[in-house]
Amino acid sequence: MSLTVLKFGGTSLADAACIKQAAEIILSKQDRRYVVVSAPGKRFSDDEKITDMLLNSCSNPKADEIIARLAERFETIIKELDISLNIEEDLAAIRAAAEGGKREFLASRGEYISSKIMAELLGYDWIDAAKCVVFNDKGECDWNATRKATAERLSHSYRAVIPGFYGAGADGEIHTFSRGGSDITGAIVAEAAQADVYENWTDVSGFMMADPKVVKNPKPIETMTYRELRELSYMGASVLHEDAVFPAKRSGIPIRMLNTKRPQDPGTLIVPYLAPGSGGPLITGIAGKKGFYTIALEKDRMSTEADFLPRVLEVLLRNGVSFEHVPSGIDTLSIIVAADTVKGRENLIYRELTEAVNPDGIEIKQGPALLTVVGRNMAGTIGTLSRVTSALAGQGITVRMIDQGSDELNIIIGVDESCFEQAMNAIYREFVSGEEKASS
Ligand code: ASP
Repeated sequence: MSLTVLKFGGTSLADAACIKQAAEIILSKQDRRYVVVSAPGKRFSDDEKITDMLLNSCSNPKADEIIARLAERFETIIKELDISLNIEEDLAAIRAAAEGGKREFLASRGEYISSKIMAELLGYDWIDAAKCVVFNDKGECDWNATRKATAERLSHSYRAVIPGFYGAGADGEIHTFSRGGSDITGAIVAEAAQADVYENWTDVSGFMMADPKVVKNPKPIETMTYRELRELSYMGASVLHEDAVFPAKRSGIPIRMLNTKRPQDPGTLIVPYLAPGSGGPLITGIAGKKGFYTIALEKDRMSTEADFLPRVLEVLLRNGVSFEHVPSGIDTLSIIVAADTVKGRENLIYRELTEAVNPDGIEIKQGPALLTVVGRNMAGTIGTLSRVTSALAGQGITVRMIDQGSDELNIIIGVDESCFEQAMNAIYREFVSGEEKASS
């Protein structure tokens, strides 16, 4: 029989009604055997996430008040689900950790209690992630040890619920992944169980072809490859934690992104590989973000100084500036960097670059916004770039930067920040709603 690993996000577990819905989904198919859960998330837009409450309680003089609210939330869930679970000891441990300033332990307790609730409701085994997700001395996940320990532990349970987001070091100390990290635990469990599919249940029906905050009602992406997902996620399409891709990719397990509120929707299937031209639209998706600065350098005969670029990058590295793209001319060089690593330090960087390469001119300025057009089917298709630039030209938008990988999987375009939304809509219309019009 096939084996499915499921992960439910915080909004899918926000209250008893949501948890019941998730349990129905799990129980509706025999092969849904291992379940990874987040902590309860927001029930409504102004609500608090349990993980935020826990973090907020850390060394906070008002910790008792926060923990009382949190306790009430969990107790209401337990009562409404009509299960017998005593969380008094867990709450006492939370109070002690808040007083002792144990941040990561606190952050992990939402998943810890939420998983116990789900295991009790389903009648599944409960596996503590501290026993199978292994962190090293640097506080990073030890992937090999984790894979081994998780596979070993799963071999004793046919069906189990596992808390997401945390693990432990050799000394038993709890460590957490970065926020949203239950997705990573889901991928770890899928890999260790050699699952046929990793179902990731959230509050949206998969990935959309463009950012729904920018483009109205974008179409969902039916299928994409891990590499396409990486390109889109890196540039802002965030439905899945980016580190969750690696364990699943390594073992070739497909991920299906699904919506707990609309389980009938097909969602998005993410697979290891699809040959270009083997079906699907020309463009898989468009993502983008603001938050970049440009460092523009100019120097006569720059191209004859072989170590010009290495010396510039050395300055950036020394100052912790992370660079994204380096479009260049013969005697000019532009470096697109993450704004938050430069902002407020412009003078220092200006000075150090002047010392390092003695340029004729340096300009450090905000922008551009970057857009990425991603599609495995773009490889070898003539005219894609021209369609992108024509769509932008049609709106009077200047292209400030352009970058295309040699595998033709993505085209990255820089535009003025003020044109970002208009640019994304123009490209979407050109490739997605335009195609609809053409075929109708
Ligand atoms: N509960 C954690 C967070 O809010 C982890 C997760 O939900 O994936 O980030």
